[in-house]
Amino acid sequence: MAAEGINGTVEGELKNTKAYTKEMNHYPAFAGINWKRSEGNGKAFPKLSVKVRDEIVTTGEKNKDFGPLASKTGKYLTAKELYNWYREEKEFYVLDMRNDYEYEVGRFKNSIWPDGLGHFRDVKNSIKTIEHLKDKTIVTVCTGGVRCETASGLLQKYGFENVYQLEHGIVTFMDKYPNTYWEGKLYVFDSRELYGKGESIGKCRICGKTTENMVNYFKDGKNTYGVVCEECCENKMVELEGKYKSRFEYKTI
Ligand SMILES: [Zn+2]
Repeated sequence: MAAEGINGTVEGELKNTKAYTKEMNHYPAFAGINWKRSEGNGKAFPKLSVKVRDEIVTTGEKNKDFGPLASKTGKYLTAKELYNWYREEKEFYVLDMRNDYEYEVGRFKNSIWPDGLGHFRDVKNSIKTIEHLKDKTIVTVCTGGVRCETASGLLQKYGFENVYQLEHGIVTFMDKYPNTYWEGKLYVFDSRELYGKGESIGKCRICGKTTENMVNYFKDGKNTYGVVCEECCENKMVELEGKYKSRFEYKTI
């Protein structure tokens, strides 16, 4: 939690998480909140954890004249609206604000990954790569919609005028419109890792083979995470870090 809001996820069996959120909605402070529920067996988060931070989305920007606290953030676009935009072939550009490895295994049709923009590393350089879209209709997307609150505001700060953000994130879109304009899987930060039933679109970073095998490895002395096929791992094409991650379980949506 931070001054700008609360970000969190409640995981467990559907009936349990429903009972929890129903109870919590009785408290005025939580009423009307967009609950992030993750369906599982209740073991993804072994204990309740609350962290107090300066920012929900770490930007490192000294002048926070954008984002939710400054009321400078993209207009909300619902999953239904985005679905209709795709169907009507409206001119718009989806900018993906997640990590590179998330984009590698799943993304919206025709979406763009502006090199780390959603992570506020080297923002000016990222902006340069999408400068030509300044007067276009932009839709920022991220997993649950939180990162976009800040990132869509940042785009406005840099002169993008027609900026929307996908309300409640990719998760909501996938649940409402499975097998439509989302390609591949959705990387989620709990023990399941990959969500959805889309065909694999991940490509091994070493040999280019289609795979969804994700590993921690060292590259140029740095710890890196990404898609590397099992064969390349076995052939020691990369220097693996820690235990070789096993396959994830799929979730049916
Ligand atoms: Zn490979």
